[in-house]
Amino acid sequence: MFDYKLGLDFALKQDQDDPLRAYRHQFHIPKDSKNNHLIYMTGNSLGLQPKHTKSYVNQELEDWATLGVEGHFEAKNPWLGYHELLTKAMANVVGAKPIETIVMNTLTANLHFMMVSFYQPTKTRYKIVIESDAFPSDKYAVESQLRHHGFDEKEGVILWKPRKGETLLNYEDLEAILDHQGDEIALIMIGGVNYYTGQFFDLKRIATLGHKHKCVVGFDCAHGAGNVQLNLHDSGADFAVWCTYKYLNAGPGSLAGCFVHERHAYRTDLNRFTGWWSHNKATRFNMRGEFDQLPGAEGWQLSNPPILSMAAIKASLDMFAEVGMEKLTAKSKKLTGYFEFLLKALGEDVIRIITPNNPNARGCQLSIQVKNADKLLHKKLTKAGVVSDWRAPDVIRCAPTPFYNSFEDVYRLVEKLKAILNE
Ligand SMILES: *Cc1c(COP(=O)(O)O)cnc(C)c1O
Repeated sequence: MFDYKLGLDFALKQDQDDPLRAYRHQFHIPKDSKNNHLIYMTGNSLGLQPKHTKSYVNQELEDWATLGVEGHFEAKNPWLGYHELLTKAMANVVGAKPIETIVMNTLTANLHFMMVSFYQPTKTRYKIVIESDAFPSDKYAVESQLRHHGFDEKEGVILWKPRKGETLLNYEDLEAILDHQGDEIALIMIGGVNYYTGQFFDLKRIATLGHKHKCVVGFDCAHGAGNVQLNLHDSGADFAVWCTYKYLNAGPGSLAGCFVHERHAYRTDLNRFTGWWSHNKATRFNMRGEFDQLPGAEGWQLSNPPILSMAAIKASLDMFAEVGMEKLTAKSKKLTGYFEFLLKALGEDVIRIITPNNPNARGCQLSIQVKNADKLLHKKLTKAGVVSDWRAPDVIRCAPTPFYNSFEDVYRLVEKLKAILNE
């Protein structure tokens, strides 16, 4: 695809020619004790802070200080409808329509609220399919839903597993699961991009397959949102959830996103937990009378939301709106491809990349296995100024993000890794 070359000059030239190069300077990049920038490769865990976030949050603090309760109407961005300022930009990030998109709650909470509506087990159709390497929180959530409905969690969870000696998942194996047990399965709940391997699944293929067998299909896109083009609407998935503190750079524990496909927007037959924020906006404050469901994903809200967290999300989404996922993913593919090229040059007998090598089947993260490595390698990398992530027993995850990582970052990371391996 790209004609990569070894050597620092190549990296510097790529940075010079990078149409997104200015954005790196719009983020706070952590530094070491000597005031040198760290090589930050954990945007998949906690995205960095945009420099303008502080002013967005300060705006709300000031409006609160000067206006008190009137801020709901009189603030520069009135709090009453603040979440609406996020909807369109968030919908664009995940490839959804505004009516399908809402920012609310936190990720695992949203997963539960979605299962309240979309996991409707019967005596014979109650099982849930997840990846064998699903993120622990997702696994716990799914198991607790089974228990909540009176089913045995061991028997009720079906794992989509890699084949013996392999790490990635094959669609044929999911098809086989559905062919054999399709009529027992109520829900397929998959991480859109697997947090461990970095495998980006074909969401449409999984949703189509699930629907063919009359299963509900949902995705946890925590590692996908802001990283890859999810095209949630076109995928046909019933629901999706994601967080905003990873690739969406909205701060630790910030509010999460939720997608409900348009075809469910006006349904009133679904079970759901509701609150005053699920109620028709026009009559919400009458505080009287019958519940009147808001249509679309908004109708799953419960509470008036935390504005300070939403301000940080707005700061980030304004940047995403300015650049667009197309340009971000174009750079991302080039940057991660470069990373892969340099790692392969270290010798494929030493380094094994478990993330798919097809750029369309991954995001920016590469999960790397180093022969005979243990946690000491990660410790040394950290000491050398690389912020990466260690997953026992032997995987280092590095996610060069297109917004703030440079080709030089990737070059220096691999040089440091090489130096440690040669010790
Ligand atoms: C990061 C992540 C979580 C974390 O859940 P929170 O509710 O935000 O704490 C859950 N699931 C997946 C797949 C994740 O990547």
